[in-house]
Amino acid sequence: MSTRGFLLIVSSPSGAGKTTLTRRLLREHDTIDFSVSYTTRPQRPGERDGVDYHFIDNASFDRMVEDGEFAEWFVVHGNRYGTAKAPIEASLAAGRDMIFDVDFQGARALAGAWPADSLRVFILPPDLATLASRLRSRATDAADVIERRLRKAIEELGHFGEYDHLIVNAELEPAYQVLRAVYLTRRYGDVARPDVALPLPALAAARDANTASDPAAHARRLIATAG
Ligand code: 5GP
Repeated sequence: MSTRGFLLIVSSPSGAGKTTLTRRLLREHDTIDFSVSYTTRPQRPGERDGVDYHFIDNASFDRMVEDGEFAEWFVVHGNRYGTAKAPIEASLAAGRDMIFDVDFQGARALAGAWPADSLRVFILPPDLATLASRLRSRATDAADVIERRLRKAIEELGHFGEYDHLIVNAELEPAYQVLRAVYLTRRYGDVARPDVALPLPALAAARDANTASDPAAHARRLIATAG
């Protein structure tokens, strides 16, 4: 059993289905904690303060920056988002893993701060039309916000090369199986272990089959389509 946890850093353009995938991974694996980010963006209907995000005002965010409480923080879509340092060290030291839903800037900063303990995963949409329609179906955001998010999504796509694993989320179930395989093989390794009742070699094969399917070529095609 590993003694120190690791950071599973997941990024994707908004609308690629990252939240659904990461929430399921969390639900099904009690070895993972979710890093609850701090944000100055307004709370959306259905979001819970302290669970989905810590929703704070600008003054509180400033104070946390001044006190050096953030491992990273950036402006995304015109609002500030930040990851607190203390819960990360607490989870890692307890041998627990932590999952992060951050943009490419946050991913880069976290992997820079914990280079040996980070695994970066990027979730890709099947095509840009799907991405746009998923963004539009989020009726909670105004039209100009959606357009901004679409532009940011395309910018985000350009950073796929900084990630260890790329997963195309064309269908939820196969995408989830790859994410799970990536997670479990990082935690327990590729080789069967008497103390782990998981088909580790089969999970490693699923992970490697995903890499062999060349998701990077898919990412390049998406970017070319965006012009
Ligand atoms: P949303 O407002 O849709 O929840 O998130 C917008 C973007 O901000 C997403 O790409 C999400 O991954 C990113 N994000 C959320 N929390 C953080 C954070 O703590 N740091 C950084 N850098 N990005 C974050």
